[in-house]
Amino acid sequence: MSDLHPDTAAVHAGRLEIPSNRASSPPLFQASSYEFADLENVEEIYSGRVSGKIYGRYGGPNGAQLELAVAELEGAEAAAGAAAGMAAIDACLATTLDGAGEIVATGEAYGGTFALLENDYRKRGFDVHYVDQCDLGAVRAALERHRPKALYIEALTNPLMHVADLPALCALAHEAGATAVVDATFATPVLVRPLEHGADLVVHSLGKYIGGHGDVGAGVLAGKREPVERARAYLARRGATIPHFEAWLSLRGLRTLALRMARHSSNAAAVAAFLAREPSVERVHHPSRSDHPQHDLAARLYRRGTGGIVAFDLRDGAPAVRRFLKGHLQTIAIVHSLGEVATTISYPTLSSHRMLPAETRRALGVGEGTIRISVGIEDPGDITRDLVRAFAGLRERVRA
Ligand code: PLP
Repeated sequence: MSDLHPDTAAVHAGRLEIPSNRASSPPLFQASSYEFADLENVEEIYSGRVSGKIYGRYGGPNGAQLELAVAELEGAEAAAGAAAGMAAIDACLATTLDGAGEIVATGEAYGGTFALLENDYRKRGFDVHYVDQCDLGAVRAALERHRPKALYIEALTNPLMHVADLPALCALAHEAGATAVVDATFATPVLVRPLEHGADLVVHSLGKYIGGHGDVGAGVLAGKREPVERARAYLARRGATIPHFEAWLSLRGLRTLALRMARHSSNAAAVAAFLAREPSVERVHHPSRSDHPQHDLAARLYRRGTGGIVAFDLRDGAPAVRRFLKGHLQTIAIVHSLGEVATTISYPTLSSHRMLPAETRRALGVGEGTIRISVGIEDPGDITRDLVRAFAGLRERVRA
């Protein structure tokens, strides 16, 4: 290429060398297009006879590697990366409904899912019915009454950590001819593998525990090959496939997921035990606690830990919450996401549940005094010492 004009050389100089021996860690393929050797090669790759990549939006090597890893961890035939957890949820529901049908969904669905169901699905004419997923009789009745195409479940709910009875719920869905879709973002495949319990599709927001470091915006879904491929095509048509760097970061997170989930779970159990001893706390919500409504179910389904989210209710409601979160915490920041290595705290009334009317929040068990902690992987003593400071601050103001 030495005879090229500098203008041309600047465009073509330095051809990419792909080493013949594999890199020991995943290289990042930040490429949106790929070269074909000739038109036969175009045909081979488009038809799938030869593996190859075509164009970024259809998926790149980093997305494919992450999908393979998630599929293996979930025990799934296939997985598809998405631009966000919400894109993965939408792809599952839209391709399951295929233009018509009803949805029965948990009344404790993540706020973004609720917004999607209300603003998009209901407005487009789909009937959406909410049910208490912990009340199997109510779920059975809703399925029999509405005969939906999809039952939408969350494995562990936000913020009270209600535990879905996955084997029973998936069996009920199938008896009614519905596809069981499970959001297992709070659980991750390290703690529970919904497909083993009968789910048809499992979804995750990768920006939570799987990414793990508060720097990913992406999602993934997994299940049998045919529905996953339909969801993948839906995502590709909408430009909602997983970006290369997000896939790369998510895979990097996945490598330490098992270690982190063990620590998140044991730290959360320690924080829950600490909170249960605190006089200004009325109630603690974590499946490790014997007074949690699904403690026994969690012990059966979650043998490797019961997750990193702890909620608690302060006795004196909103005024107490304001005092508690008024600058006493040193390492625990107010953050509305979760699943990061650092412990973070949020007030559902003003964050995840703010779009719900107060009476709906109360009916769900999320009160004005409810605080959520996403317990990180720090030393557990340091986490509780920080909380001690906030409780001391709370009492100080009460006395003043
Ligand atoms: N599912 C759950 C349980 C979540 O907590 C979230 C986000 O917080 C989502 C889905 C949506 O994920 P994303 O923000 O990646 O779209």
